Amino acid sequence: MSGRVDVLGVGFDRVDLAGAVATILERLRGGDRTFVITANPEFVMLARQDAELRRIAEQADLVVPDGTGVLVGSRLLGDPLPGRAPGRLIVDGIAARAASLGSSLFLLGAAPGVAERAAVRLVERHPELAVVGWSPGSPREEDDDATVAEVAAAAPHILLVAYGMPSQERWIARNLAQLPSVRVAIGVGGVLDQLAGVAPVPPSPVHAVGLEWLWRLLREPWRWRRQRVLPLFALLVLRQRLFGSAA
Ligand code: UDP
Repeated sequence: MSGRVDVLGVGFDRVDLAGAVATILERLRGGDRTFVITANPEFVMLARQDAELRRIAEQADLVVPDGTGVLVGSRLLGDPLPGRAPGRLIVDGIAARAASLGSSLFLLGAAPGVAERAAVRLVERHPELAVVGWSPGSPREEDDDATVAEVAAAAPHILLVAYGMPSQERWIARNLAQLPSVRVAIGVGGVLDQLAGVAPVPPSPVHAVGLEWLWRLLREPWRWRRQRVLPLFALLVLRQRLFGSAA
């Protein structure tokens, strides 16, 4: 796991939001390709059951804690990560600098029309930004050739993929090698929905106290099915702390 913080078998890089954005921009400047995963406890719990997903996380260039759960977990484990690095804020940080680096963006995924609206919002916020394409594409493996062809035709440098986790991470792992122009690929989950205004953004005080998960659960109670892994995540973290292994 080479220097990463081990949270139940998933290695997290020792960066907070500023560090994540700085690392991505530095690699972009250096011409290095960067596959970024913003992972939460649900991702960690899925990876525990899925060797391929664990391998994808191991091989990703940057794995950061999307929210409070992983951060608290790392503290309980006695190997604290420096801070949260939510995908929404990473996208904002990169978009703010992409133009000055001559880097263009493509928005892939979300429901029809959403990526386009997200693109318009991003350009309103960052007028110099070159958004060279958007498409819902398809997360299905049998559609990869068509989706890759769409992205490749636009030849973007930065690719945001919104298929929800872990489909978006699988999509990137399968297809990044076929996209030579892409220097940065990030699975962004609901970020395009938030940018497009079809999903609400947590208010700053909620973000400040790290309760986005609770805020999201109260607004979208159907998510309890996904969040019900959280108590087990907490228990397994305590077990890893006490016995050195969560296996
Ligand atoms: N999504 C998609 N195709 C799919 C499944 C999901 O385009 O087959 C999109 C969905 O429209 C949303 C995004 O993936 O824009 C992320 O969904 P969600 O909020 O569930 O992801 P999370 O952030 O919780 O991983």
